[in-house]
Amino acid sequence: MNFKELKIIINFLRKKIQCPNCANCYFEKDISVLNTTRNEGVIFMECSKCGGNILLSVGLDQKVKTKKIMMKNSDQLISSNDVLDMHNFLKSFNGDLEEYIIKKLS
Ligand SMILES: [Zn+2]
Repeated sequence: MNFKELKIIINFLRKKIQCPNCANCYFEKDISVLNTTRNEGVIFMECSKCGGNILLSVGLDQKVKTKKIMMKNSDQLISSNDVLDMHNFLKSFNGDLEEYIIKKLS
C-alpha cells in the first residue's frame, strides 16, 4: 500500500467509523498504521475522548480498487502491550493476513 492509498483509506475510515463506546469521531491523530503489505494494512484507532479502540484489517482489491474492512468490536480495550505484540507479530508474519484473521475470528 502506498502513501496515497493509505491516505484514502484513513479518510474513508474517519467518515465511516465511530468509537464503539461513545460514538465520537476519530481524528487523523487517533489513527495509527501498524503494518502494511502491498494489498493489506493493519490500522489501530484510539478514541481521543474515552480511549475506546479498534483494530482493523484493511485490504485493497487491485482489480476494482474497493476496500474491504473487517472490524472487531470488543468490549475489552486494547492495551499498548497488545499493540506492541501485534506490531511484533506482523513484522515476522509472512502470509495472507486477511485469511489468518478470518480464521482467528471464526
Ligand atoms: Zn470514545
